[in-house]
Amino acid sequence: MTSSFVQANEKYAANFSKPDGSGFKNYMIIACCDPRIDPESQLGIKSGEAVIIRNAGGSAIDALRSIIVPQHAIGVTGEIAVFHHTDCGMTKVTTPAMREMLKKANPDRQDVAATVDGMEFYEICDVEQSVRADVDFLAENALILRGTRICGWVYDVETGRIEKIVERVA
Ligand SMILES: [Zn+2]
Repeated sequence: MTSSFVQANEKYAANFSKPDGSGFKNYMIIACCDPRIDPESQLGIKSGEAVIIRNAGGSAIDALRSIIVPQHAIGVTGEIAVFHHTDCGMTKVTTPAMREMLKKANPDRQDVAATVDGMEFYEICDVEQSVRADVDFLAENALILRGTRICGWVYDVETGRIEKIVERVA
């Protein structure tokens, strides 16, 4: 992999011109890190147009730090779109099972046990319900700028289509 990165970057840098930020459209996307999710191509987002935050499941709770910093320190004040997706890996794990797995991988490590017992993995049972809960979490969180429009969407990995589930204002 590393060699292909270097080759690709050499090509990229050969025609590089520093972005001036003028293409930025002042909105944020939160999406899952699943490789089947490609927000740029699935949503028609051009490079440099949006802040895109990705984590396992597209969890707004997990993304909170990465939302607050652009909002308050950089001035990204536009809409937040939360995307969860069908067949997500986070529907196949649970917090207790993840904790057990990590403890088993690190036997005799009390520090690991204590760390994972304090970790939440934000598993998903129902994808529509989870996207609603994440939009509620952001809309009702005092750390999110008042007046921010927050939309919740589900992406279907079988059809490639998106569906808007909910919209709120913080
Ligand atoms: Zn996922």
